[in-house]
Amino acid sequence: MQTVEKKKLLLEVDHLKQYFPVKTDSVFKPKNYVKAVDDVSFHLYEGETLSIVGESGCGKSTTGRAILRLDEPTDGKVLYSGQNILDFNKKEMRKLRGDLQVIFQDPFASLNPRQTVKQILNEAMAIQQVVPKEKRMERMLELLGYVGLPEEALDRYPHEFSGGQRQRIGIARALAVNPKLIICDEAVSALDVSIQAQILNLLKKLQNQFQLTFLFISHDLSVVRHISDRVMVMYLGKVVEIAEKKALFDSPHHPYTKALLSSIPVPNPTYSREKVILKGDVPSPIDPPSGCRFHTRCPFATERCKIEEPALREINKNHYVSCHFAEQLFQ
Ligand code: SF4
Repeated sequence: MQTVEKKKLLLEVDHLKQYFPVKTDSVFKPKNYVKAVDDVSFHLYEGETLSIVGESGCGKSTTGRAILRLDEPTDGKVLYSGQNILDFNKKEMRKLRGDLQVIFQDPFASLNPRQTVKQILNEAMAIQQVVPKEKRMERMLELLGYVGLPEEALDRYPHEFSGGQRQRIGIARALAVNPKLIICDEAVSALDVSIQAQILNLLKKLQNQFQLTFLFISHDLSVVRHISDRVMVMYLGKVVEIAEKKALFDSPHHPYTKALLSSIPVPNPTYSREKVILKGDVPSPIDPPSGCRFHTRCPFATERCKIEEPALREINKNHYVSCHFAEQLFQ
């Protein structure tokens, strides 16, 4: 586990595992599992934005879903304000859903197409019983103001809006229940770059206004650079590096992070960054490589890497890396 500073902890994820059974055509075959999230630990401070990055299939979205119990985790703990929410019963979980909200990549799929914005927002408030019925209209208008939508939006349906506007409705719905933590799962990935910037700025503004905590899941490092306080990099179901944003972007210490960062375009035609091309594909999470999971693609792998799994260890203050040679490889 990482060192805990005096900032207030909101969420602690402790040795979280999410395995999905693989269907076999024979009862005699041993059961296999997709180890989508395999022994992941991290924490979130109140009011911060922690981003999870990695290639598709690294387990970042599965981690978010497991925290929310949208999929029931296989093992581990998720401590929210000190309580393990994986032990909560349905009633306790329903109550908690107000505190923990999610914004998905595709607002069109997550908004009911048969409901007007008014019905969508009203339903969210009614389920969580956060605003008395007679005050809901006032609150809805307030919410539209926060996310930059006009009052007329209330009587319109999701298909009548642009992608960016629909994401604003998704944000308003999340805000409607006074959340503390919002998990943004590829929340801006489907939007044009100019609209992405608007939504990111809106999220930042709302975070300051309402002291929100964000777990921001994205494959896009430029977006992550814009919004994060800290960044966690995942590879094949494991955390490989976690650090404050500046430390991670300026001085990555895991070969995988280094390779990911080398692929970000540089907005300067006179400067060219050394590109690290990784060989091969991401191995299967059903039968991940022994030792360090990255050894099949790592340009620095040794015999030790094939046998011994590196621990996630602190190499600088608040900078954790799981590589046997983190200090030697990159100064
Ligand atoms: Fe590469 Fe070995 Fe470090 Fe894994 S432990 S990242 S294989 S050098």
